[in-house]
Amino acid sequence: MPQARDAKAPGGAGTGQGAADMVVVMKERASDAQIEKVVAHLVEFGMDVHRSTGAARTVIGAVGQRAVDPRLIEMLEGVHEVLRITEPYKLASRSFKPENTVIVLDDVRIGGDEVIVMAGPCSAETEEQVDTTAAAVKRAGAKVLRGGAFKPRSSPYSFQGLGEEGLRMLRSAANAHNLKLVSEVMDTTQIDLIERYCDIFQVGARNMQNYSLLRELGRTRKPVLLKRGISATIEEWLLSAEYVLGGGNSQVILCERGIRTFESYTRNTLDISAIPVVQQLSHLPVLVDPSHGTGRRDKVAPMARAAVAAGADGLLIEVHCDPDHALSDGAQSMFPAQFDRLMAELRIIAPAIGRTICVEPMARRGWGTSRSTVDSR
Ligand code: PEP
Ligand code: MN
Repeated sequence: MPQARDAKAPGGAGTGQGAADMVVVMKERASDAQIEKVVAHLVEFGMDVHRSTGAARTVIGAVGQRAVDPRLIEMLEGVHEVLRITEPYKLASRSFKPENTVIVLDDVRIGGDEVIVMAGPCSAETEEQVDTTAAAVKRAGAKVLRGGAFKPRSSPYSFQGLGEEGLRMLRSAANAHNLKLVSEVMDTTQIDLIERYCDIFQVGARNMQNYSLLRELGRTRKPVLLKRGISATIEEWLLSAEYVLGGGNSQVILCERGIRTFESYTRNTLDISAIPVVQQLSHLPVLVDPSHGTGRRDKVAPMARAAVAAGADGLLIEVHCDPDHALSDGAQSMFPAQFDRLMAELRIIAPAIGRTICVEPMARRGWGTSRSTVDSR
């Protein structure tokens, strides 16, 4: 009996699989009609299908609930072989989708050649604080404003965020400075509100395993930045991404933000090695948050440089116009001038590994130009 082989990326773990999770490799000269017939069969079996058209051949990833005999597909004309996806996560795996996912928000492309920097305060506090910080990060080359309005604080006595008022401040600063906006959603009841103000939902480390929240976000059509859980393995993290992808939202951005270890000098231990590991296992973009990863502003720049050198698709960095008086995470928030210097350093590192980054800060081009930043090629 023909046996479907495994399409497990090296380093993948886990054995969970259904016969319905498969990769169909077409013959080099398979015709469009043959490819379409295979896709039609898979869809008929109730499968989620992703078609990757390579230079030489087409590969079709298919994931479904129902068990499907791979021989039914192997027998179709133009099929070279059928492999099983053996990773426990399917839609997030490179076997399912070999090419990188690029998330496009107008002129901001996350997961493409350009390293995208998202920066701003931990929390929105006042109109002036949000606007001053947004102007500073834009000037330095950030493309996305970050800022929390609903804060998951370890202590119920700490500042919990301004709620909708904070979202309003963040949106207005993002619009004024031509930035996209990412902000944290803490539970399902906040989704509609946050969707009205933000371009990207942030799921915090503490909520990485809030499966009802992930499922609901799977039904939205805005990108989801999914932080790695405080003690989560990479496999658990990718399984959480699978909840969002499984709901039909293909726009997941992963974000490494440090994990809890025995080391207490830094707030968390930033797992730089997660970048190449994730990039091998998954097609999803991966960002790094060196602010929560270290908890100390003097350690943020070295880790940000390391993350870009290791191939991160972007960074999420806390910057505050007056960090000494911040209502949350002041110790890890950079001064605008520090952030500006870091961006200048990243402009040297990124091209060394074939990436681009915003090369021309607004300060040097002035306001009012139609394209405020340009890419180096
Ligand atoms: C944050 O980004 O402000 C935050 C709370 O991050 P994390 O979920 O990684 O702790
Ligand atoms: Mn924070």
